[in-house]
Amino acid sequence: MPALSNISTKVIDGVSYYLPCNNDEVIELVNYAIEHSKVICTRGAGHSIPLIKSIEKEKNRIYLYLGRMRKVEIDEQNQIVKVQGGCNLGYDPNDPAGISTVENSLVYQIHQEGFAFPDLGGITHQTVGGFLSTGASGSSLTNPFNEYLESITMVTTMGGTATMISFRRTNQYDTNHFFAAGLSLGLFGVIVEARFRMCDAFIIRGQEKTLSISDWPVDFFGEEPNKLPLLTFFTQHDFQRIIWWPQKGLKKVQVWEAKKQVMPQKFSPIPYEQLTGKFIGIPIQVAGGWLLKKFGQISWLIQRKSFFRRTELGGWLANVFRNTLVPCILRQLVTNGTVQFKDTWYHGLPMDNSIDERLIPVWLSELWFPIHQSPEIIKEFRDYFEIRHDGPGTFNYEIYPAKATEFWISPGYRRQSIRMDIFWFAGNKQDPIKDFFLDFWNQLDEYEFRSHWGKFIPEQTQDELLFLFPKMKDWRVCRSLYDPVNVFLNDYWKHKLHL
Ligand SMILES: Cc1cc2nc3c(=O)[nH]c(=O)nc-3n(C[C@H](O)[C@H](O)[C@H](O)COP(=O)(O)OP(=O)(O)OC[C@H]3O[C@@H](n4cnc5c(N)ncnc54)[C@H](O)[C@@H]3O)c2cc1C
Repeated sequence: MPALSNISTKVIDGVSYYLPCNNDEVIELVNYAIEHSKVICTRGAGHSIPLIKSIEKEKNRIYLYLGRMRKVEIDEQNQIVKVQGGCNLGYDPNDPAGISTVENSLVYQIHQEGFAFPDLGGITHQTVGGFLSTGASGSSLTNPFNEYLESITMVTTMGGTATMISFRRTNQYDTNHFFAAGLSLGLFGVIVEARFRMCDAFIIRGQEKTLSISDWPVDFFGEEPNKLPLLTFFTQHDFQRIIWWPQKGLKKVQVWEAKKQVMPQKFSPIPYEQLTGKFIGIPIQVAGGWLLKKFGQISWLIQRKSFFRRTELGGWLANVFRNTLVPCILRQLVTNGTVQFKDTWYHGLPMDNSIDERLIPVWLSELWFPIHQSPEIIKEFRDYFEIRHDGPGTFNYEIYPAKATEFWISPGYRRQSIRMDIFWFAGNKQDPIKDFFLDFWNQLDEYEFRSHWGKFIPEQTQDELLFLFPKMKDWRVCRSLYDPVNVFLNDYWKHKLHL
């Protein structure tokens, strides 16, 4: 650890992090890194897996965590909030610095003043810097979170020394570097501040329905013209997401949908509480985590032991496990029914906040496809499960839409998208890429998906990236402009983006 004035440090997961408390300290760290030819790696809540874990293994790095930079200033008259880059959107129960609270979170503070953001992701543990850097978003097709970003301020190395630069939104989408910096993977500099527009605080009312796909009045696979088209379903609600359990003998969906309403004078919420009940007397998340772990261990045995692949009895047992035992147990957990809820926007929209990531840790690969191909894509998944060596596996799949955006390397760049989130239980022994995600990436390649940058992403050639992201070339020029000395260029992105 290099000696640097009085900047505090903290060991997080075995890695020593600097916790600067103001812009001057960030500038000092960046200049120090330039002088000593080191690379700066900044983390937020550390939700981008495998990205953060990978960069934490690199050598000759200076690690930054902006957990002490979380000031929020609200300009009521102009409906603008200015926030420092380390502020968590909501409360982060796993904040490594132990500073995050509900009260110092961004969403809570703006709600107290009568304001809101138009949408949020499924959880709000993330930091402002991390959420923006990877282009994360919620499920609104009309008003996504990032559209409310007005400006972003970073400590860059433009000109070869630590330099603060602010990027402001205009409608010059092709030339304004705001649209490059607003999603820049930590490679342009350290985000120290962002300014967002706000809308009026609102409530959501909605329901989650768990039912068989055959009973859902929506045409999920594009094969039942008498049902509501999936695309129409997506546009009928302000917010929605679908959890799909495609296992044989299960074939269910959990459809969460909500609409926005004006905040009443008095309001008594009935929150949506996911996985908070009990299963045979055990808290459901403990039971779920345990079961997923056991499923993973058995799947691992089936995959590794030739008995299951080469003998008739082994094949039969593997089939009983996948197609009878797993669905039968899951059916006890995923029971049909409808749950109604009403809540404030900031508490209700992040519907997965109540899942304890330590009990049910998930790793994800999220693929964004053109939305008009939705039924085709879902059908492709279904048909692929029929022939895939392990069927759909023992977990679920999440589906939600996203509005097209102008951020240059967003997976939603000028393309309205359907997002397929492929879940992997992090407690599994197998290699998530080799033994799981890779098959999906290869199978779906022809559909020209773009991946969520904060999740597991395939290896793609430079030409493929340039084809998939038409503004990638311009974005790379900007990266060199704002970090000409490569102080922010870690090995992870150097390799993935061929930089
Ligand atoms: C359980 C779970 C649920 C999720 N739900 C959603 C969802 O609903 N929608 C969605 O789109 N995504 C979702 N994600 C992905 C997640 O939102 C993104 O990966 C997001 O980037 C994480 O933010 P973070 O604060 O944890 O950033 P980190 O993961 O810590 O960092 C992400 C990137 O941002 C950079 N970075 C962080 N802070 C700064 C800064 N101040 N300046 C410059 N660079 C910085 C890092 O270097 C890194 O490159 C989910 C992930 C998990 C694990």
